[in-house]
Amino acid sequence: MAAGSAIQIPSRLPLLLTHEGVLLPGSTMRTSVDSPRNMQLVRSRLLKGTSLRSTIIGVIPNTSDPTSDCDDLPSLHRIGTAALAVQVVGSNWPKPHYTLLVTGLCRFQILQLLKEKPYPVAEVEQLDRLEQFTNQHKSEEELGELSEQFYKYAVQLVEMLDMSVPAVAKLRRLLDNLPREALPDILTSIIRTSNQEKLQILDAVRLEERFKMTIPLLVRQIEGLKLLQKTRKPKQDDDKRVVAIRPTRRINHIPGTTEDEEEEEDHDDVVMLEKKIRTSSMSEQALKVCLKEIKRLKKMPQSMPEYALTRNYLELMVELPWNKSTKDRLEIRAARILLDNDHYAMEKLKKRVLEYLAVRQLKNNLKGPILCFVGPPGVGKTSVGRSIAKTLGREFHRIALGGVCDQSDIRGHRRTYVGSMPGRIINGLKTVGVNNPVFLLDEVDKLGKSLQGDPAAALLEVLDPEQNHSFTDHYLNVAFDLSQVLFIATANTTATIPPALLDRMEIIQVPGYTQEEKIEIAHRHLIPKQLEQHGLTPQQIQIPQVTTLDIITRYTREAGVRSLDRKLGAICRAVAVKVAEGQHKETKPDRAEVGEGEDCKEHVTEDAKTESISDTADLALPPEMPILIDFHALKDILGPPMYEMEVSERLSQPGVAIGLAWTPLGGEIMFVEASRMDGEGQLTLTGQLGDVMKESAHLAISWLRSNAKRYQLANASGSFDLLDNTDIHLHFPAGAVTKDGPSAGVTIVTCLASLFSGRLVCSDVAMTGEITLRGLVLPVGGIKDKVLAAHRAGLKRVIIPQRNEKDLEEIAVNVRQDLTFVLASCLDEVLNAAFDGGFAVKPRVERLNSKL
Ligand code: ADP
Repeated sequence: MAAGSAIQIPSRLPLLLTHEGVLLPGSTMRTSVDSPRNMQLVRSRLLKGTSLRSTIIGVIPNTSDPTSDCDDLPSLHRIGTAALAVQVVGSNWPKPHYTLLVTGLCRFQILQLLKEKPYPVAEVEQLDRLEQFTNQHKSEEELGELSEQFYKYAVQLVEMLDMSVPAVAKLRRLLDNLPREALPDILTSIIRTSNQEKLQILDAVRLEERFKMTIPLLVRQIEGLKLLQKTRKPKQDDDKRVVAIRPTRRINHIPGTTEDEEEEEDHDDVVMLEKKIRTSSMSEQALKVCLKEIKRLKKMPQSMPEYALTRNYLELMVELPWNKSTKDRLEIRAARILLDNDHYAMEKLKKRVLEYLAVRQLKNNLKGPILCFVGPPGVGKTSVGRSIAKTLGREFHRIALGGVCDQSDIRGHRRTYVGSMPGRIINGLKTVGVNNPVFLLDEVDKLGKSLQGDPAAALLEVLDPEQNHSFTDHYLNVAFDLSQVLFIATANTTATIPPALLDRMEIIQVPGYTQEEKIEIAHRHLIPKQLEQHGLTPQQIQIPQVTTLDIITRYTREAGVRSLDRKLGAICRAVAVKVAEGQHKETKPDRAEVGEGEDCKEHVTEDAKTESISDTADLALPPEMPILIDFHALKDILGPPMYEMEVSERLSQPGVAIGLAWTPLGGEIMFVEASRMDGEGQLTLTGQLGDVMKESAHLAISWLRSNAKRYQLANASGSFDLLDNTDIHLHFPAGAVTKDGPSAGVTIVTCLASLFSGRLVCSDVAMTGEITLRGLVLPVGGIKDKVLAAHRAGLKRVIIPQRNEKDLEEIAVNVRQDLTFVLASCLDEVLNAAFDGGFAVKPRVERLNSKL
């Protein structure tokens, strides 16, 4: 043993008592230490010691140390292994212990135990060294033969193992380099041996004896391995020589078997792909790139990940509609009829679309602004886009841009990325299979922005007629001509569309619908569509107009018709169940007469014998057709009404006024509430207001304070300074929704005027308008949506700024007829119109007037 002979181990060694495992010289063992004596040894000898000598300990096998400190030391095994502690790792879990890594150096025998506590220390005699020097010459011949025999077995054993494993190769080298005497110990600790056998080897102090004892162990291991290899033979072949196996198989392979076919097939596929590439009508630049790629593909082994990538790329290139287009059939008269048939109302939008199409018919080119429909959800923006595609005889594809915040969503990922793919535009073209579809870019106002670039910037290129004939998707990496694609965009508001993008588009506002329009849309389009979808016929279900109106006013509050459509769907589902049950029951002979339902028949205009669905709740009675949906049935199906006309109730105290607000979802009525209390003149605003709205509130208060005397407005203590000892709280309900804008100015003034005068604001009046400190009323936006909201809410009068008069022309005649408009240019006029009998001004003002 080279190491053993070189090191003189100390004559006094601390002893580590191990129970499991036997450490032999030349091998390494990990052992857990938790008994008090062993722990002490680690702590005071290994962790505190600083010299190399202090890391040498004696490992005594097969002796479990008692768990308690005071227990007597058990009898120790006579022979042990001097070892070097290489590593100590401490842990507190599950109980305090150390894990020791020790490497065996040489055998020793205990001569005398010097002390037992805190850990045993013994005087020792180094054995291996004595053996080497005394016996080496004496028995060289005999040992030579034995060691030669041992060496051969050892080599045989190691070579049976997988030499590609680095540790095995290293072991093979060690067999040649190590002194032969060291081999029995090392191999015994490597091969499968029991603790008992290892102990015997440790005890075999004489080298000759050790060789003799280990040879049978080696032979046993070799036989075991042979047996194992016999049973595993075929599999081992497989994984040992994966690379070499293919050519050998080819030689003795019978043609016609599946693998051959597969490879042939793959080869055929590539040839086919090449053929497709050559015959496809792709641009010259694209063809060049594809041919280069297919050349690379042919040389690539299929197992390479790039093979699949390249193939996918080439397949996409072949599939793209480079030159394939549908023939436009554009006839303006037909287009008008189709648009009218598909959509009720929306005259302005239809007019502009027809103009656009007419220009296209005359000019036969697409260069022109991109149409962008802006309006609340559910007003038919997408659906008009679809109709345009239909009138042109083109394919339609919708690209949802809501939430897209990565420009590679539009322009694709470069092919170097794992999982790269083309952008949505190229994907859309692949889906429709023609190069002149109608692309609807839905929700351009909801494009996001992130670190991955600005998708709006990528869209600019797509939408610019000057650039888009050579749009380069990062994945394709060659230009694709998008100039034949007709782009239409939709948005809820223009406020969040990036200005550069807005500049490329022509905005067409699509306002919300009036109640009458909604009823018409429901009966002309939505109900027939829902009936068809649910397999019902008009003979089975009847929804009178009053019911539709009920759904519109009591179950939905929206500018568009999407919720209305959903509610109608729910009704159809409920009726479908009844109809299906009825068909089932009809076979039963004993049908009872339906006695109830008299009151609901009042609503029915038709003569047909009808029956309310609510009255057919008893399943024993099959319904009679058609099933009439009256208000009771509505309640049964949709639950109690969600919205009630609450306007008059809420205006029953002073300090409340109704304003009109514009949101991307359409117009809405908004209650403004005010209250006053004793305080120090503070103004509190609640309801998530933006800065502009807060300023409006301050403006309103200031104007009222400066005009309090004129209007005889006083606070609780009778002072004309309204904030004297008084706090004011203004609240804008629906507190979770952020509100901003200047148009609430007039409403706040009216609300405060009502609070301080103690008079009620008329319950049927709503208002909008910006105010100035001098009391002028300035124009605001969104008048049409706001007026529609007032109409929806059943209000009768609307106060709007004088300068918004022109906007009234856009409003449907029937709505205008239902409402009275007050055009105000100053706040006096607003207040006069908002209170019954006007809001009197102190005569002093009249005197002033007469002077003028
Ligand atoms: P948007 O794109 O504006 O959110 P959609 O186009 O998806 O709304 O319209 C929602 C539903 O309402 C569609 O089923 C559509 O057919 C219907 N719809 C909306 N407006 C009209 C209309 N004027 N005439 C007929 N159907 C309409």
